[in-house]
Amino acid sequence: MHSTSSDNRSSNNEKKGWIDLLNESVHTTDDVDIGDIYAVSKNFVVVMRGLINIHYYYIPINKVEGWDGNVLWLKITEKEVKANYERNILPDPKQYYIKSYPDYETSYIGYFYSVPMIPPKYTDQTQDKYIKETTPQENVPMIYRCDLCNEVFNSEDELDKHMDIVKH
Ligand SMILES: [Zn+2]
Repeated sequence: MHSTSSDNRSSNNEKKGWIDLLNESVHTTDDVDIGDIYAVSKNFVVVMRGLINIHYYYIPINKVEGWDGNVLWLKITEKEVKANYERNILPDPKQYYIKSYPDYETSYIGYFYSVPMIPPKYTDQTQDKYIKETTPQENVPMIYRCDLCNEVFNSEDELDKHMDIVKH
């Protein structure tokens, strides 16, 4: 158990982990705001777009350019996102760290590389969102699925390998 009593708002210059980016905006190379980060795993950033017609984009981490302090930038265009990475499935809380699961009993046991940092592309956007923290729990058996092609793996290493080989 740990509690942080202080208002621990992170400054934009501070190094972020992927979990800190939940709710933040994601932009494509053609500067389209494709939605907010809804869930993260070691291999994917899941972006949710829309309120009524909801779309989920499963963006492989290797398609992420970096966080500029306001926005997470991708290395691909909106067209490429829609063509390759849209999947109309909810991320599985066993595999993803999801922002809307305050009490979840599942097993986010991931570890994340730090988010690549890039210089601000623009700074006129005020991001003042509260990021809900949840406490990940351990010791739940995991499967790892590539949500882009539905292949299932027994370990994160195998999924890593798959992401290397398949080059989504
Ligand atoms: Zn795959």
